[in-house]
Amino acid sequence: MQDLGGKPVIVRTYEATKATELFDEVYVVTDSEVIYNEIEVNGGKAIMSLQEHDCGSDRIAEAVENMDVDIIVNVQGDEPFTSKKGLEQVLAVFKGPDAEKIDLASLMTEIYDWKEISDPNAVKVVVDKDNFAQYFSRSPIPYPRDKNISVQYYKHKGIYAFRKEALMDFHTLPPRALEAAEKIECIRYLEYGKNIKMAINNNEGIEIDTPEDLVRANRAFKESSSTSVNNKYRNFPMVPKVIFGQGSFDQLPAILAPQRKENAPFIYLVDDVFKRNETFANKLTLRFNDKLIYVSTLEEPKTEQVDTIVKNIKNEFTHQPSGIIGIGGGSILDLAKAVSLLLTNKGSAADYQGWDLLKTKGVYHIGIPTISGTGAEVSRTAILTGPEKKLGLNSDFTPYDQVVLDPDLAIGVPKDQWFFTGMDCFIHCVESLNGTFLNAFSESYGEKAYDLCKEIFLTDTLSDAESRAKLMMASWHGGMSIAYSQVGVAHAMSYGLSYVLGTKHGVGNCIVFDHLHEYYPKDVALFKEMVKLHDINIPQNICANLTEDQMETMIDIALGLVPLWENALGDDWETIMTRDKLKALYLKM
Ligand code: NAD
Ligand code: ZN
Repeated sequence: MQDLGGKPVIVRTYEATKATELFDEVYVVTDSEVIYNEIEVNGGKAIMSLQEHDCGSDRIAEAVENMDVDIIVNVQGDEPFTSKKGLEQVLAVFKGPDAEKIDLASLMTEIYDWKEISDPNAVKVVVDKDNFAQYFSRSPIPYPRDKNISVQYYKHKGIYAFRKEALMDFHTLPPRALEAAEKIECIRYLEYGKNIKMAINNNEGIEIDTPEDLVRANRAFKESSSTSVNNKYRNFPMVPKVIFGQGSFDQLPAILAPQRKENAPFIYLVDDVFKRNETFANKLTLRFNDKLIYVSTLEEPKTEQVDTIVKNIKNEFTHQPSGIIGIGGGSILDLAKAVSLLLTNKGSAADYQGWDLLKTKGVYHIGIPTISGTGAEVSRTAILTGPEKKLGLNSDFTPYDQVVLDPDLAIGVPKDQWFFTGMDCFIHCVESLNGTFLNAFSESYGEKAYDLCKEIFLTDTLSDAESRAKLMMASWHGGMSIAYSQVGVAHAMSYGLSYVLGTKHGVGNCIVFDHLHEYYPKDVALFKEMVKLHDINIPQNICANLTEDQMETMIDIALGLVPLWENALGDDWETIMTRDKLKALYLKM
């Protein structure tokens, strides 16, 4: 049931086996209700075994006893990387020249590393000249007394194909001492004189026997699916309801009313900059046991902060809240999304940093931006700083159920902050429009937002109210633009700054973008014009006093954001953006 890229290992194994299309039927046979339910919920077929069994073959024998089948393949539940080729090879031996003699077939892989050869978790097998198994052991077999004789070691892979008769026989034969001593079930066949034909498959997937294997498996899984995260057709959700216009915030009580569940409060998470703002306070209408939590945005939101808020809500209220309402900038909008999700998904927010790791819909959540640019109000992510990384909770459950866009709420944003957050939008457009993931969908949103940004930041034709309204829509479109593509160099590097130095997103992007003429020449020139026109101070030399360790961490964090680099620089990004190159860039900032 351990997680592998967002689904339990057993579900991945089931799906991989089914995807080979080699079988008439695929079942998970289990004595665990948890596993049974998980498979059924995921649309698979599971069989609950009635009796207790010491090994998988016995359990499968019980399951197929009354099925009309000729060949049964036992794929171990911890083999999520089961490949079509390996299974084909195992099945092929039943069509080979010595098919008549074969009771069961299995797979082996050549191994060379003595560490693996001597590892008792890896079962070794020796075979005769026709690849019939002679013995299986956790010891190195043969023992290399004469080091000058070269022998090929083989590791057994946990896949068996049985003729039904052989499996049913097996079931009735009592285990003997060799099997009991080694805890290797196929030894039983050898002990009773059955013939096991071994096929060689060197395409080694990862078997998951230890927590370290699971870590490796997750890495491998991510690598194999990271390409599909961003460049296949994506079916992503959008915010289903949005209200726009000056004063639209006043409609909030009417929007909330139908969502209110008896005894279940609405929780307001509000930027504490509004604490002493009376106009705002007068507009808020808390009912019954609704709760208002002011949150400081001095620092970017953290997984720990989400966990604490969720814990407090759970302690204070017996009922799941009717909804979470986030009112503020990107920080609060992300925090509120994450709180909504962690109220229904167990564990820590840190467990869900990544793509599609959340399993359950969050509680109803409303986003109300009070400063524009991040696009967090429309996006499918909630960016959090965790113990190990700065990464969003990206999922179909993340987007808001409702957004209220009232440009008046952005009155009073300090000028520098207005610029930094607004530039986040500009940079989203630049990175999306210049990225390799661009398509007409992203482009149409990106171009609109880009033009709005130029109008807002480079002309003086707009009234303040018009400018606020347009920036609110630019932010929305900028967010939509990266939904179907990705951000790029500035964001990857800005995440590094933020993780190591705590630099906030907007200003971090500006610090980086200022030095990216090599990648976005025309747009960096425009940016510099805007900086000058609005007389903005971009912090300088912030990397001058970094320790080596800090620099290395910063580089690790930035380079870890693979999809961003792929979008920015294409598939060969690793040869373009080397660690040295990145370091040189950081040192300019
Ligand atoms: P922010 O939310 O941290 O707010 C910036 C500052 O503006 C704060 O000091 C805040 O108190 C103040 N402020 C906000 N509204 C105000 C108002 N009406 N009047 C006066 N002051 C006001 O900054 P941000 O730039 O909006 O958001 C940055 C965050 O957004 C980062 O944490 C970043 O990771 C995240 N982000 C998320 C996404 C996403 O898609 N989820 C995209 C980009 C950025
Ligand atoms: Zn951004």
